[in-house]
Amino acid sequence: MEHFPLFLDLRGRTVLVVGAGLVAERKVALLLAAGAEVTVVARAAHSRVQERAASGQITLLLQNFTPEQLNGAWLVIAATSDAQLNEAVAQAAAARQLWCNVVDDATRSSAQVPAIVDRAPITIAISSGGAAPVIARRLRERIESLVEPSIGWLTTLARRQRAAIRKARPDLIARRRFYHWLLDGPVHDALRAAQPEKAEALLHRALAQGEKTTTGKVLLVGAGPGDPGLLTLRGLRALNEADVILHDRLVSHEVLQLARRDALRIGVGKTPGEDHEATQRRIHALMVRHARQGRTVVRLKGGDPFVFGRGGEELLALQQHGVAYEVVPGITAALACGAYTGIPLTHRGAADSLTFATAHRQGDAEREEAPHRHTQVIYMGVERLASHGAGLIAQGFAPDTPCALVENGSRPQQRTLHATLATVAQQAREHAMASPALFIVGEVTRLGQRLAWFGETLTPAAAKQPAVALAA
Ligand code: SAH
Repeated sequence: MEHFPLFLDLRGRTVLVVGAGLVAERKVALLLAAGAEVTVVARAAHSRVQERAASGQITLLLQNFTPEQLNGAWLVIAATSDAQLNEAVAQAAAARQLWCNVVDDATRSSAQVPAIVDRAPITIAISSGGAAPVIARRLRERIESLVEPSIGWLTTLARRQRAAIRKARPDLIARRRFYHWLLDGPVHDALRAAQPEKAEALLHRALAQGEKTTTGKVLLVGAGPGDPGLLTLRGLRALNEADVILHDRLVSHEVLQLARRDALRIGVGKTPGEDHEATQRRIHALMVRHARQGRTVVRLKGGDPFVFGRGGEELLALQQHGVAYEVVPGITAALACGAYTGIPLTHRGAADSLTFATAHRQGDAEREEAPHRHTQVIYMGVERLASHGAGLIAQGFAPDTPCALVENGSRPQQRTLHATLATVAQQAREHAMASPALFIVGEVTRLGQRLAWFGETLTPAAAKQPAVALAA
C-alpha cells in the first residue's frame, strides 16, 4: 500500500489554506462542508473567497505566507499557482510535522485529497496516489452510478435507530442479519421510492416482531447478450446483492465476473439431450429452497428473461410457492445483434413491422402469408437453420430474400454472415457457424453490409449489391 487512507474529523478544527483563487475556493468549499474552521492566506482573493470572508464563513488574511500562520492548524493546503510558494508552505508544514496537501502536486504533498463519492454519512474515497487522477475520477464515476443515494439515507436511519436495534436484537448474529435485511429488504425499497415514513414504520414493525425478518426473494435478471456493458445498472446491483446466482449457459463469463465474490454460483443451463422439463423443475426447486432459507437469489438469464427465456413459467412457480420476486429486464439478443451488426430492425421503406419468433416446428407456419416490408428475427439453434429457411420459402418468401446470421452477438468473437434464404444454410455450414446465433430475415439486413461496425462480416460476393435502393 502506498498511502494510508484516513478519514479526518475536521469539525471545529483549523485548516490553513494558502492561496485564494478558484482552485483554493473549491477546497475551501469541501473543508467547510466537513465542518472545518478555515483560514485562508493570500495576497489577493477571488471574489467568492472574499464573499465567504465577508459573511463570516472563513477567516481571510490578505498577506504573505509566513510559517507562524501554521500555529494552531491541524492540516495545511497549498493551493497557489506559484510552485516555489507551494514548496515553501510544504516545507514549513513538514518542519512542524503537519500534514500538507499541495493541490495537483503529489511529490510535494504529504497528504492527498482523494476523489470522493459522498453518500453522507457514507464516504467513499479513491486515490491513485497522484499517479493518474483521471483514472481515479473515472472509477469515482463508476462507483457513483453503483452506489445509490438511498444508501446514505439508509445509513442515517440505521444510525438513528441504532440503540433500538441493539435493544431488540441483543444477539450479534441476529443483529447482523437484521442489518442485511435493512439493506436488501423493503425498508431500503421504501427509501429508494422516497418514502422515509414508510421505511421507518417498516423498521419498527420488524423490530417489534422479533427474529423472523429474513425473507428471501428471487430477482429474475436479464444478463443481456454477453457484452458486460449491456447489463443494466439495476441488474448489476442485483448481482451485488445476490447470495445465490442461478445462471444459464448463455450468460457470459464477463457478466458473471461482476457478481459478488462470495455469492454461491450454480450453473443450471440445459444441455442438449437433457430432459428440459426435468431441468426446469430442478431450477424451480432450487429457487424456492434458497429463497425460503432467507437468501437473495438471482436467477440470471441470457438476454431478457421474458423473451424466449421461460421467465414467465419460473415466476408462476415462485408465486405458487409464495416466494417474493422482482424482474429486471435485459437487452434481448434481437436488439443487441441488430445494434452490433449495423442492422436497424426497422427502416423507412424497408421494414415497418418486426417479429421476434422462435423456430417453428415444420408445418406450423404453412398457412401464413409472407409479410411485406417486414423484419423477422428468429431465435434458434443453428442446426435448425436449413429447415427453417426452407420453411420460409415454402411459406411464400422469395428465395433471394436477404438475411443475416449473427453468431455470438455483442461478444468479441462476433461474426455476421450475410446470405439469402436459398443460400444461408449452405453458407452457414461452410463457415461453421455455431450457436448462439440469431437469424434475421428481411430487406434491412442489406443495410448491415454498409453499417457494420463490430466483429467480422462475412459477405458472399453474390449478396454484395443491394437489388433495391434503400432509403438512406
Ligand atoms: N432470453 C434470451 C433468448 C434465449 S433463447 C434473449 O432475450 O436474448 C436462445 C437463443 O437466443 C439462441 O439460440 C440464439 O438464437 C439467441 N441468442 C442469445 N444470445 C445471443 C447472442 N449473444 N448472439 C446471437 N444469438 C443469441
